[in-house]
Amino acid sequence: MSLNLEVFKNEPFTDFSVKENCEQMEAALAKVASEFDKEYPLVINGEHITLDEKMHSYNPCNLKQNVGTFQKGTADHAEQAIQTAYETFSSWSKVPAVERAGYLLKAAAQMREEKFYLSAVMVYEVGKSWAEADGDLAEAIDFLEFYAREMLRLDGPQPVTPYPGEKNHLVYVPLGVGAVIPPWNFPMAILAGMSTSAIVTGNTVVLKPAEESMLTGWHFMRIMESVGLPKGVINFITGDGAELGSRMVNHHLTRFINFTGSKDVGLLIAEQAAKRTPEQRWIKRVIAEMGGKDAIVVDETADIESAATGIVQAAFGFQGQKCSACSRVIAVESVYDELLQKVADKTLDLQVGPVEDRNMNMGAVINQDSEDKVLKYIGIGKEEGRLVVGGEKLSDQGHFIAPTVVADVASDSRIAQDEIFGPVVAFIKAKDFEQALEYANSTPYGLTGALYSKDEARLKRAEEDFFVGNLYLNRKCTGALVDVHPFGGFNLSGTDSKAGGRDYLLQFLQGKSISRKV
Ligand code: NAD
Repeated sequence: MSLNLEVFKNEPFTDFSVKENCEQMEAALAKVASEFDKEYPLVINGEHITLDEKMHSYNPCNLKQNVGTFQKGTADHAEQAIQTAYETFSSWSKVPAVERAGYLLKAAAQMREEKFYLSAVMVYEVGKSWAEADGDLAEAIDFLEFYAREMLRLDGPQPVTPYPGEKNHLVYVPLGVGAVIPPWNFPMAILAGMSTSAIVTGNTVVLKPAEESMLTGWHFMRIMESVGLPKGVINFITGDGAELGSRMVNHHLTRFINFTGSKDVGLLIAEQAAKRTPEQRWIKRVIAEMGGKDAIVVDETADIESAATGIVQAAFGFQGQKCSACSRVIAVESVYDELLQKVADKTLDLQVGPVEDRNMNMGAVINQDSEDKVLKYIGIGKEEGRLVVGGEKLSDQGHFIAPTVVADVASDSRIAQDEIFGPVVAFIKAKDFEQALEYANSTPYGLTGALYSKDEARLKRAEEDFFVGNLYLNRKCTGALVDVHPFGGFNLSGTDSKAGGRDYLLQFLQGKSISRKV
């Protein structure tokens, strides 16, 4: 079997200025709305399981809309799912890589086929604008296409230095059972990337979507079933995140944990996974991608208009709920006021409302906890700095919060140090570029960062000393593309796994060195 693949290229975004695309999206939104309240099962060993206890996924922009009803699985279901994945590993790990990659390519084709529908699911389930949902889906397709190709590259004997009297080679073999624990904020892209990287390398997994995005997770599972993925390779469970997640992490049959989410949960998982149980025969591998407090630095040589546009897009796209979102602007004092004014003006132009309406730039934040947290930090920001724009809740229909700019905050203030994960950006004044860079590096995180400058020496300095996993020069700090900007953070932003990069799959493999005397 050969797949004859073209070179990987990124999936193009949908052009919503084309009338026909808008009509297709409207039709898809209507279809998704007609399916509200429908119920979806757990999937363990290919069996669709329903339970007495249910849970719901609500539209954050309209809290009356239940986008889907799900089963409230327990730790016992996590147990069954892990046992199934363990039993399936012996057969799946022997399936040729080319066949495993084939399932990803078929799933990518299916996602392309259902593009508008799957984007519409994300619009309703997590409050992504049309463009953000379309970008999420394009990234999911990219992960599938890219990891399929990457697996073929890593398949078969890898070169080693020849040695007289021996025939030597190295092969990559899978690890075993993986616990896949994604966040809700890229409900298709991250979930699909984290799951398919693990299975294309020959592992089997238990996938537990975040409670806020179970419907999108379900559609990924449905697509993997529809392309004929053997049962038991991905086992899909829903329920309380901490209950299921901790059983998955602590189980002695779990070989690795692929986690993306908050710093606190990531650190807890790292700690739990490090503790060996008596039956356990390996050191668990933890891949953890966590939060950020990402800064855009602007110096006095920068194109201020372009910087202001980049800041507003990076701070408020998807309501600031991206790990890469700009939550700090650090500007040198000579351009600070001009930049702040431009950012304030552009922020006031943003339309906030239910995102099934194409004209909305921003929807609601994900849930009540998030609303409470963002409003609490806005309160703190008012004390620590000067509220320039926004600062209030906008409507009771959903968790709508006005895009908020707080100026004149100190770089060590809470609003400049803690991840808020909402539409709030803090402005910090620096006396010069050196101080700006020092401030940029002053949080425990190190995920993304950007510098707007025309000074070559400073751009070079940032390349060397701006300590982030993803650095952007003269462009915004969000919008990483698969294999264009491999993604992952330094420090407490994570293990720098570089999702969508050429080293990523190695994390789900171990090398076996084979030497034969001849
Ligand atoms: P979260 O940490 O609350 O949840 C992430 C996942 O962990 C969910 O599936 C959740 O159910 C599960 N979980 C919760 N408690 C658990 C426990 N005790 N044991 C095991 N699993 C548990 O994060 P979130 O709110 O879903 O996502 C937002 C966070 O994710 C932000 O901090 C954001 O910066 C981060 N994020 C990081 C990246 C990245 O690539 N670095 C990408 C997206 C999001």
